[in-house]
Amino acid sequence: MAHRIVFLGPPGAGKGTQAARIAKELGVPHLSTGDILRAAVAAKTPLGLRAEGYMAAGALVPDELVLEILHERLEQPDARGGYLLDGFPRNHAQAEELGKFSHVDRVISFEIAPEVVVRRLSERLTCPKCHAVYNLSTNPPKVPGRCDHDGTELVQRPDDRAEAVTTRLKVYAEQTAPLLEYYRKRHLLRTVDAHGSPDEVAARVRRALE
Ligand code: AMP
Repeated sequence: MAHRIVFLGPPGAGKGTQAARIAKELGVPHLSTGDILRAAVAAKTPLGLRAEGYMAAGALVPDELVLEILHERLEQPDARGGYLLDGFPRNHAQAEELGKFSHVDRVISFEIAPEVVVRRLSERLTCPKCHAVYNLSTNPPKVPGRCDHDGTELVQRPDDRAEAVTTRLKVYAEQTAPLLEYYRKRHLLRTVDAHGSPDEVAARVRRALE
């Protein structure tokens, strides 16, 4: 199977954690629109300045901004042999656009109970430098508050605070969840139980990609 893969699922389902591992195993780039946007915000680029307010509130960044960065990224040589998309598409219009500029081979849906998501997000810490993700109770860093890979001080994402989480879950239910049916109809969808440890979920994702 060619490796043009999309990970779908609510925030906190573990998409980013799994995408980093699985992309490495498959030798394809892990393309996270959230990571690209956060880097743009940190660097205060024109894109970052436009995206920042939407992100902090937990809303979607306008399609034209996201499509532009995604298009550019997919044209880089490392994405020619495949890619793993994490956080894109997020609505019907984005799915249609993706279909115009790339064929998708498989879509993995991460299925998880809402109360587990809320707990995971409130316990999540991320490395602003390498984007590694930790969880205070299930996957803590070796040295408290520091990234295992580069020692950078870990932060809570502004949109992991309770107010923004509520909006993000609503946006997911209203705009992104309908894509499950969109891809099911196209016979591309496989679902994965996203509860359990990162190792357990990774094993299920590998099976779903066979
Ligand atoms: P994520 O890291 O995937 O949870 O994304 C964090 C935030 O970045 C989202 O809440 C949105 O504000 C923005 N974002 C990421 N990907 C997209 C996308 N495909 N379309 C619109 N906004 C996005």
